[in-house]
This record gives sequence, C-alpha cells and structure tokens, in this order.
Amino acid sequence: MNLIQKIKDKKILEILQEANQITLKNHGNEITLERAIFLSWWCDKGDCSFCYMSSQKPLIQDPKKARRRVEAILAEAEMVRRMGWNIEFLSGGYGAFTTPEIKNIATQIHQITDNPVWLNVGITSELDAYGEEVTGVTGAVEVANPELHQKICPSKPLNDITTMLTTAGDLGFKKAITIILGLGETPEDLQYLWEMIRDLEIDRIIFYSLNPHPDTPYADTPQPASLYYAGVVAATRIKFPQLEIITGTWVDNLANIGPLILAGSNGITKFPLFKMFGTRYGRRVEEEVQWAGRKLKGTFTDPACLDGESPSVELEPFLKRYIKSCLNNKTEYKV
Ligand code: SF4
Repeated sequence: MNLIQKIKDKKILEILQEANQITLKNHGNEITLERAIFLSWWCDKGDCSFCYMSSQKPLIQDPKKARRRVEAILAEAEMVRRMGWNIEFLSGGYGAFTTPEIKNIATQIHQITDNPVWLNVGITSELDAYGEEVTGVTGAVEVANPELHQKICPSKPLNDITTMLTTAGDLGFKKAITIILGLGETPEDLQYLWEMIRDLEIDRIIFYSLNPHPDTPYADTPQPASLYYAGVVAATRIKFPQLEIITGTWVDNLANIGPLILAGSNGITKFPLFKMFGTRYGRRVEEEVQWAGRKLKGTFTDPACLDGESPSVELEPFLKRYIKSCLNNKTEYKV
C-alpha cells in the first residue's frame, strides 16, 4: 500500500514504527535543538496569508527601524552556541538587509559558532556573493501544491524559489525547504512535496504546523492534528531516508515532540528560547526527547552553560540581557 494511502487510512502507528527504524539506522539517536535567528521584523512582500508579518506590514512605516541591531543578532548566536543548540537559519523578511550586510552578519556568526550558517532570507539572485560562511540556502515553499501556493503566497512564486535552489546547488550550497502543515493541503499533496525534494535534491526540510495568528484569515483555523503531522513526517522519512528533517512545535503543542521524533525528526525548533529556558516547559522538551528514546544535544535547562567569554565587548550588554532573561525564568512561562 502506498504511503499516502496509509495516511488516509490512519495507519499512522505502522508508518511511525518503520520511520523510526529508518531514522535510527541512518542518523543515530541524537536530536538537535534548532533556533532560527531573525534579522528583522519587516518583510517587503508581506502578503502570505498565514504570516504574522502580513499583519504587521501596514503598521511599519520605515523598514530600517524593524531591523534588529547586529550586536543583538550576534549575541543571540553566541547564546545559542553556549547552550549547544544549532542555528536553524538566519531569517529575515524580504528587503530589510542588503546582501553584503547579510554576508557580513553570516561571516561573524561563522566566526562565533565555528559553523557556517543556513540562510532563509527570501528569493535572491545574489547567491554568488556568499562563500564559506554559508552552508546552505532555504526556500520558503510553505505549501507545495502549486494552486494553493499561488493563493497563499502570491508574491513568492514557486518557480522563483525552485530556480534559486537550483542555482544554490550549482554554486555548491546545500538546499532546504520549509513547509507549513495546516494551510488547507491534503495528504495527496505530498506528491508535490516529494517530487520537489527528489527533483531539486533537497538536503533538509523544515516542517512547521500552522500557528494561527490573529488578524490573518487563519485566526480561527485549528492547528493540524498531531497524528496527521507525525504521519506526514514519517511518510517523508520513509521516502527519503537520508533527508535531514527538522520539525517545529510551538509551546502550546509540546506533546507533539515525542511522536515527531519517532516519525523521523533530526531536530526540533520553534521555541521562544529565552522565555522557556529553565522553565518546566524547557524541561518538558527534554523529557519528550528522552521518552522518544533519544539523546538531546545541548540543553534547555542547565544554567551552567550560560556563562562564557564574550566574543567582543560590544556584545556584552546584549549577552547580559539574554542571560538575565534566562535566569529570570523561575516563574513559569505563560502560554
Ligand atoms: S515572504 Fe515570508 S515573511 Fe514575508 S509575508 Fe511571506 S511568509 Fe511572511
């Protein structure tokens, strides 16, 4: 029976078991914590119907003011390094930073973490500006069904994303895509997704589940069911044993983590890091990983990791602020 049919027939446990074995065999038992580092709160496009930025765009007069300070970005990278997390990617709405500026930030982060970064900075024709500071390029596909994509993300055509990813591959970068579940897709739409992964030779996929924002058409849409989410990830793992899979879970859905790991996740993401660090929510993430029979790389709870030498004096005040925020978390994080 094919995998899509198995999802439709709710044979989720069956595919989870198979996916788990494939994952352990090909990837071992380590799970990473991933942190997307945002460059700005501005997006030039601002019309993807599910996106928080689409509700903010009319409120922001000057895109430059929505940029984060570079010191804050670099201090966040240093904190992520201290906690043993990975940087999922550098992410920024379109049009907030120029390519040389992004390259400069990526270079400094590479120096801080010793790892080249993934980019998720929109469709660009300037990839040849990047070098060893960048490991790969992410296409924010969100939904692989072309008709749905056209409706939901009218300003970032699929063709432009696939062209960029092809160029990224030609330049020697790795390739990733992001997908959001719960935007109205069906299990059959996995055909589009799997074709894309195969044709573009995608190295990494990041699945998120819809996080319904007020002031968007999805405000009253439920998040996708946990077993549907796990089923989609498991089927993708079975199809692509070598693929790196990251799955996003917001703090109100931590119980998804265990099933998503069994389904084939290599890493988990989408947490409000500084608010959750050291709280029972952070501990819950660690327990979800442990009860899935995996070993967590890094920590969500150990305050001993927070101290360290600052990479530069300019970052010190920002590091202090982040550390204070982590240590203040003795009250519980409110969802
Ligand atoms: S391009 Fe990205 S940041 Fe901009 S509206 Fe769409 S999803 Fe949001």
